[in-house]
Amino acid sequence: MRSSSPSRPPQPWAQPGPVGWVYLLCFRDPATGEHRPLRGNGAGGQFAGHYWGWTDDLVRRITREHRNPKRTGPGRLVQVALAAGLTFELAWLEYPATRGRERRLKNQGSAYRRCPLCRGTGGPLDPAGAAAVVGQAGGAR
Ligand SMILES: [Zn+2]
Repeated sequence: MRSSSPSRPPQPWAQPGPVGWVYLLCFRDPATGEHRPLRGNGAGGQFAGHYWGWTDDLVRRITREHRNPKRTGPGRLVQVALAAGLTFELAWLEYPATRGRERRLKNQGSAYRRCPLCRGTGGPLDPAGAAAVVGQAGGAR
């Protein structure tokens, strides 16, 4: 059995707030399976190869919400990427983690360094499998 447990935080996070999953999505080209960043052509002309997110319901967020083009919550960047013909893979996870942890990781700007898919050190993760590993513990609701 392949170990797909999320990497553990280096220290307990004493930050307030609900505990859930921090996850990293890697945008891919569905035709080739290769990494392909999104080139924004609208506001700000952003350039994004990855998306950081936080959720307390990993499976729902990854398998349903991010795939729903009509969704209006966080993750608009993902919708834009899908609309542009890209797809995504779940590349990295951390649990338990707070929103503050997500912000830290985002601010580090280290998505490529964190991404096992881009580094060739790992394959895409399965959200249901990862959630089962921790048994949806923590009672974050
Ligand atoms: Zn990547």
